[in-house]
Amino acid sequence: MLQQTQIATGLPYYERWMLRFPTVQALAAATEQEAMTLWQGLGYYRRCRMLLDGAKLVAQHGFPQSRDEWLKIPGVGRYTAAAIASICFGEASAVVDGNVERVVARLTCDPATGSKLKDNSWIWADKHMVAEEPGEWNQAVMELGATLCKPTQPQCNICPIKGDCVAFQTNRVSEFPSPKVKAKVLKSTEELLIPLFGDEVGILESHDNSWWKGLSLLPLTSTFSHLIENGWTEHLGEIRYTVTNHKITAVVSYVRFDVKPGGLTWVALDEIKEVPLPAPHRKAIGLLYKT
Ligand code: SF4
Repeated sequence: MLQQTQIATGLPYYERWMLRFPTVQALAAATEQEAMTLWQGLGYYRRCRMLLDGAKLVAQHGFPQSRDEWLKIPGVGRYTAAAIASICFGEASAVVDGNVERVVARLTCDPATGSKLKDNSWIWADKHMVAEEPGEWNQAVMELGATLCKPTQPQCNICPIKGDCVAFQTNRVSEFPSPKVKAKVLKSTEELLIPLFGDEVGILESHDNSWWKGLSLLPLTSTFSHLIENGWTEHLGEIRYTVTNHKITAVVSYVRFDVKPGGLTWVALDEIKEVPLPAPHRKAIGLLYKT
């Protein structure tokens, strides 16, 4: 839940999630829609599907006991597998997170960025890890990055490894890590449609939109243009949202039908909160109540 997400944002989701799914078995028995409904608004929905798939595997085969076994669980990558294996099972596997990358960049004056810096950090960590105490070593390096070797104003004067730190010794700490090249922001506009029939709203349950895989969606006006002439359409307003480096303006309208058109699933408006929708689409529906 906390990948790409701050603790303050993730915590209420975690608490609701643990109330509903207190055990791996409880989660493994859930449907994707149940899980997605609790996850909606947190974004990066792939994590939710992976968690569900992972829970099913663990419920079936039990908890993995080594890094290589953990790597077989969907959604568990090199970092998580190594962290669990070293901290819980004392396995000699190094861990690299963003904190470790920053420490390595400064310690070795490594100008690399992105995946190159990550690769170099794994090589450094594998080479320097204290195999007898892997959990403590991994946590120590991560903590050093989180508490002393911070992104801004690192506390070099009280750092226990300042004698080995090339950036500190050469007075170049502020140069590392090298600044990342930012992905170009891509702006676009879309037209979102809220189909209405009585007090029901029409949604798409299956679609090929990879951003919102596993969620239900409001249709785009373009995909329903052939039906709009049979209904009464009115502009509601605009929603702005961001997905990775895409900045999207959604122009929202509703269309009210006298006869239900096909191709949609109809849900009572006062039950729409039970449907897993992306946050911008939920916001779009909220515009109905502002007119
Ligand atoms: S001396 Fe400063 S830059 Fe070097 S590892 Fe310690 S806190 Fe980081």
